[in-house]
Amino acid sequence: MAALRARRTLPKLADAGAPLLVVEDLRTYFKLEGATVKAVDGISFRLDDGESLGIVGESGCGKTTAALSLIRLLPANAWVAGGSVRLYGIDLMTKTEETIRRYRWREISLVFQGAMNALNPVQRIEDQIAEPIVERLGKEHDEAVARAGDLLELVGIPRARGRAYPHQLSGGMRQRAMIAMALACDPAIVIGDEPTTALDVMVQAQILSLLERLRRELGLSLILITHDLSVVAETCDRVLVMYAGRVAEEGPVERVFAAPRHPYTRLLMGAFPDIASGRRTLEVIPGTPPDLRNPPPGCRFAPRCPAAMDICREMVPPEVRFDDGVRVACHLLPPGSPGSVLATDGADTGSMASAAARPAAAGTQDGQVRSSAEGSR
Ligand code: SF4
Repeated sequence: MAALRARRTLPKLADAGAPLLVVEDLRTYFKLEGATVKAVDGISFRLDDGESLGIVGESGCGKTTAALSLIRLLPANAWVAGGSVRLYGIDLMTKTEETIRRYRWREISLVFQGAMNALNPVQRIEDQIAEPIVERLGKEHDEAVARAGDLLELVGIPRARGRAYPHQLSGGMRQRAMIAMALACDPAIVIGDEPTTALDVMVQAQILSLLERLRRELGLSLILITHDLSVVAETCDRVLVMYAGRVAEEGPVERVFAAPRHPYTRLLMGAFPDIASGRRTLEVIPGTPPDLRNPPPGCRFAPRCPAAMDICREMVPPEVRFDDGVRVACHLLPPGSPGSVLATDGADTGSMASAAARPAAAGTQDGQVRSSAEGSR
C-alpha cells in the first residue's frame, strides 16, 4: 500500500504514515417535525489504501447518511452531532464548510444512484466532467475538457460522445459518465451510493467490473453502499452491516458471508437468493426497523430478533472484536467469547468489557458502548 500512497499528492497537513480513513463514533442526526432522528448513532470503521468496503443494511438503516457525513454532504435539516472522521490523519469534522468543500471531489468523490437525476440534463457530458477539474484543480477549460475525454475513454465511452447530453446516452453510459466525473480530480476514495440500482443485470455486471478494474489500476479505495449482498460479495474486501444507525457486524467479506455471527446478518443473508445452496424460499425478517426518533433502549434489533434475551432490551451490546478480523455487537457474543480478542492495553476492548457490565442508565447517553475503529482491525 505504500506504493499506492506514493503515487498520490497528499493534502496539506496529511500524515503520510496515517491510515487512509478512520471513522470513530460518528453520529449524524436529523431534525424532523420537531423530533431528532438519530440516523447514524455511533459507528466506527476504517478504510485502507486500495481497499473496498461495502456498507449494507435495509433501507433507512443510515448507510447513505453515514457515507455522506464523511464529507458533510447532508440535507439542511441534518448535522454531524459527534465523532471524528480522519483522512490521512486530518480530522475533517473540525474543518469549516469552506475547507471541507476542498476535500470533496479532490479526496473523496461520489457516484450517485440514478445518473439521469444526478447529471445536469442541459449540459454536455464533457462539460459536466470538466467542471470539477476547473473548479477544484484550477485548470483551464480546454485542458479540463481534454482530461474529461481521457476519463470517458478510461470508463469505456468514446471521447466524441462527450459532446452528448445525458438523455442521448443509455443508462449504462450515463452511469459510466458519473464514474468518470467521480474520477475527475483523482480522489483517494470513491463512494458509490447504490451505483447499479437502476440498471439491468447485464449493465450492472459491466459497471461492477469497471469499478473493480479502476480500483486495481488507479489504486482507488471504494465505499460501496448497497442493499445487494451479491454486489458486496463480488466487489468488496470488507463488509459493514448496519442496523438502525449502528454497526451490527463488520469484517472481511469471506468471513462474514461464510459464517455470519450477528442474528441480523444471518437473517439478511437468508432473505437473499443463494444459487449455490439450492435454497428455494427466501426468509422474511419479521417486523420493521425501529422509529429512530424514539429507538428502543438496548439492542435496536431486539423487537425483531428471534434470539432476544432480557439483557438485549436493557443494554446496548458492546462491539467485540475477534481474532479473524470480524467485530460483532450482540449479547450472544459478549467480551471473552471464544476467539474474541482481549485488549492488552485496555484501550478499546477493555472499555467495552467494562461498559458491557453496566446497565443502560449508567452508561453514556443511551447506554451505548463505543469502540475504536482502529482497534477493530
Ligand atoms: Fe438479538 Fe440480543 Fe443479539 Fe440484539 S443483542 S441481535 S436482540 S441476541
